[in-house]
Amino acid sequence: MSKARFAWMGGKFVKWQDAKVHILTHALHYGSSIFEGIHSYKAGKGTAMFRLDDHINRFFNSADALSMKLGFTKKQIKKAVKELVRRNNIGNGYIRPLAYYGYGPIGIFPKGVPTDVALVAIPWEHYYSKDLRIIASNFRRHSEKSAVFGTKIGGNYANSILAMYEARKKGYDEALMLDEKGYVAEGPAENIFIVKNGCLITPNSRSALHGITRNSILEISKDMGIGAYERKVRLNEVENADEVFFCGTATEVAPVVEVNNKKIWDGKAGEVTLRIKNKYMDIVRGKDKKYFKWLTFI
Ligand code: PMP
Repeated sequence: MSKARFAWMGGKFVKWQDAKVHILTHALHYGSSIFEGIHSYKAGKGTAMFRLDDHINRFFNSADALSMKLGFTKKQIKKAVKELVRRNNIGNGYIRPLAYYGYGPIGIFPKGVPTDVALVAIPWEHYYSKDLRIIASNFRRHSEKSAVFGTKIGGNYANSILAMYEARKKGYDEALMLDEKGYVAEGPAENIFIVKNGCLITPNSRSALHGITRNSILEISKDMGIGAYERKVRLNEVENADEVFFCGTATEVAPVVEVNNKKIWDGKAGEVTLRIKNKYMDIVRGKDKKYFKWLTFI
């Protein structure tokens, strides 16, 4: 497990081993936390975070969804993230902003329970180092009727964990989750693209988080002359796609080579997938001037 020297809790830098919470922390009981995942990279002249402002904006939107008062401005959080990455001397790394209902009465409604805010930053290379085999889960992703679209609330990830255990028990790397209508939504913590006849297609399901990596890929594909569409996607379209990949901040671009015991094409990472992956990795590592706008150097 990756560790670091410092974490940041409620405005203060604390030693790693002191970054603790009380057993009556509300979020431990009810999942009343919100979080982000941000990737930092060694990017030429220094460490840069990819689309930091977009992650911080989503962090604040997630807090609003749970009626949390963070007690810090976006500017303060941004400054603290940069400082933490610097203090921990991180190049390729992962940053986890977290806010949670903390120590207080045991009831579900968090009246009078304080909101605590924390940041963790650890060295990190790649989430997946191999191509993925995935299986459709029997657990459906939350619809907009049981979650708040576009937010990352801790409790909602119990649904992802159920799907992941189900997939791992069946011998697969990852789960593919459908929405309540049976259309493809996303992975447990990543979005999905399929490639058909040279074009990218990604589900527009509102049961999926429309992630920042997904958005980046939709934008860069235009530049690369690759058509890209957001629309409803059926499971058999994934099984019969020319190529499939997962994407996300931690996952980056991960080729999927098998779905439901069926090989995708020849069972190897596809050509379009690898083009997108290479372009994405160039961008996050500061090798593409056009996309410097997405990098925040510490
Ligand atoms: N879906 C879910 C459920 C996720 O947790 C994530 C990771 N944040 C993603 C998709 C990918 O989003 P992003 O590209 O913003 O990391």
